Amino acid sequence: MNQLAWRLTTDFNKEKHLFTDTLTLDYFVETYVCSCGYTKFILKYSKQEIDYMCKRCENMRFYNANFAWSNFAYFIEQELDTEFEYEYKVEYTDNVVSSFYGIGIPTKIDFISQKVIYDMKAVYTVTLTQEGELNRDYILQPPKKDKTQVEENLLYHINNLNPFDIPKHPKKKITFDIAAFFLKNRELKEFAFYYWRYIPKMDQKELFVNDALIHLANHPKEKSIKKALYHNYTRQMDQYGKYNAIAIEVFCKTMNDTNIIVKLLNLESMFLIDSGLNTQEFYQLIIFLKKYYIEKQLFKLFSSQEFENKPFLFRDILREFITMQESIEHLFKKVACKAVALHDEFVRCGVEERYKYMFTKTLSYKAKEIKPCITLGRYKVSVPQTGMELFKWAESLHNCMAGYFDAIDCNETIIYCFFKEDDLQFAVEVSDGYIRQASGKYNRELLKEEEKVLEKWFQISFKKIQRQADAA
Ligand SMILES: [Zn+2]
Repeated sequence: MNQLAWRLTTDFNKEKHLFTDTLTLDYFVETYVCSCGYTKFILKYSKQEIDYMCKRCENMRFYNANFAWSNFAYFIEQELDTEFEYEYKVEYTDNVVSSFYGIGIPTKIDFISQKVIYDMKAVYTVTLTQEGELNRDYILQPPKKDKTQVEENLLYHINNLNPFDIPKHPKKKITFDIAAFFLKNRELKEFAFYYWRYIPKMDQKELFVNDALIHLANHPKEKSIKKALYHNYTRQMDQYGKYNAIAIEVFCKTMNDTNIIVKLLNLESMFLIDSGLNTQEFYQLIIFLKKYYIEKQLFKLFSSQEFENKPFLFRDILREFITMQESIEHLFKKVACKAVALHDEFVRCGVEERYKYMFTKTLSYKAKEIKPCITLGRYKVSVPQTGMELFKWAESLHNCMAGYFDAIDCNETIIYCFFKEDDLQFAVEVSDGYIRQASGKYNRELLKEEEKVLEKWFQISFKKIQRQADAA
């Protein structure tokens, strides 16, 4: 089995022999296992040196098995040029499956049968513990194909002998990922759980899909809910090959109307809701929405085309809600129960929160700065007198003008707002006697008529100032 010739020294008293228990012999046995197949046992005293040569092939080179066992790394290092015959072995002991790549070395002698017993010393070992930890240990890095083989051997063992009792799939082989998943979740007794995006925490030693589904759905008594639940589950598994249960769990926990729950479970969009969702966050959003809307309205929201077409919109709503939850909780003003409306209202609450600090502040201007506040045809030009005014005007233009409060406050810039019949049309930022920007609602560009008014206004209000400044 091994092409190397080995020398093994054993303490005769420590091995099993014919006189064990009846006789103590102060001998050592030197065993010479030659690569030609010839084996010789020589009895010797402890300090005695022996020169041995194989009778059959005259070989004199015997590797020291005792040294190899006691300091294998050093032995391998010294014998790097030797071509060992590497072998593979897989073993299951102490709840660990180990796959080895190594060499066989004589370890002891059975004197009764006069047999040399070999054991493998590994240079490369891959182990999988029953806790699902995969470890790779090595003394020597073997070639890649051998490493791969070691892992394949381990997986073969796990698939065929299944020592850890991992749930099996009729077609799919157990991979390291699958093994780790089930070993870290020992209670899961069905392979299908591998495809669940999220598994409810339940204090059960053994968990089956049916029980988990019922638990997720908050233990419904109604047959119609159970039916919809299973239907939803098989549909998800068939269509997507995975199961997203977050929305289902939250709806079953928060909704009271059986019909609404059944209808929600039957929604196609129920599969889309889950991407990037966290149960707790979604739960809080639904609880919040329930304070303002009835379940029918919420069903309409989640079944709307708007929702189905733009799943990202829902993600935005949720993100906005989670990041600004506190402000939304006390600044929210009921809007239509529609995705876009809710989204905009949540954003507005966030903005209001951000600019709240300036609501109580007033803005002051120099005389020449408010000189341009004139009436021009149907337009009336004004500057905000308070932070609150600036914020409200920014809201009516739907732009980020409110962010200029600090700049206006320290006289770096001024925003002139153009009203027509008390309705804010557009705003212009002026600093150092120049127009920096001008825009209407949602930052639209100015209309022709507005541009003309602006030009005229600028001529009247600033060219004079400019000339005065130039003259000075
Ligand atoms: Zn020989």
